[in-house]
Amino acid sequence: MKTKVIAVVLAAGKGSRMHSKIQKQYLELLGRPVITYTLEAFENSRVDEVILVVESGEIDFAREEIVKKFHYQKVTQIIPGGKERYDSVYMGLCAGEEVQGETYVLIQDGARAFITSEQVNQCIEAVKEYKACVMAMPVKDTIKIVDEDNYSLSTPDRSRMWQMQTPQCFVLPEIRDAYREMMNAGDRTVTDDAMVMERYGNRRVKMIEGSYDNIKITTPEDLIIGEAILKKYGQNKE
Ligand code: C5P
Repeated sequence: MKTKVIAVVLAAGKGSRMHSKIQKQYLELLGRPVITYTLEAFENSRVDEVILVVESGEIDFAREEIVKKFHYQKVTQIIPGGKERYDSVYMGLCAGEEVQGETYVLIQDGARAFITSEQVNQCIEAVKEYKACVMAMPVKDTIKIVDEDNYSLSTPDRSRMWQMQTPQCFVLPEIRDAYREMMNAGDRTVTDDAMVMERYGNRRVKMIEGSYDNIKITTPEDLIIGEAILKKYGQNKE
């Protein structure tokens, strides 16, 4: 059976927690934009095509200064995103073209720059087997449920808690239908794609162990940590 693997790489966030005029995905890490590390991992992976989702005013910039300049052959579409992450994901999912056979999609935060092509390939194998899976890690800290005044209410069993990362991987029409249902229901509370599948889809989502290095560049401290991670890989993580 013919299969196709699409990646939706999200880079349409404003990154307000970075307190910078430049969006976090275009900030530089060891001399080149954060988003290039992410795109490089997908370029070197077995993904067939990449849909890059950017802010509507940044399409020309992304095409010239990122995709053309760094020669990403797999980026077939650069499309505008939406107000929230889930809007951008849904736009990316709607832009993906299916093949006769099975079409898979890997949804990736552009700001998770330390993903490797090996991990992307691991996700591809896993989604073919499980049909819904997410790269994630067991939590290291104890987590508390608190009340509205921040008093501890309970302590969930840590051995059952994982922190979600990306790629979040699904069968394209299944996650697109689940997203459509969510949009129609007016549900605006989801914080990751697995949650959309849990609420509106029919698949159980499998955890795929990734790496604690797979952080999302969110606040200025993350740039320092990010440089340290890259240096550990010898600058060139691929
Ligand atoms: O804001 P947050 O850190 O959760 O964003 C995760 C990823 O989703 C980032 O790569 C960001 O660029 C992307 N995003 C997006 N469209 C939005 C908000 C976030 O593509 N409206």
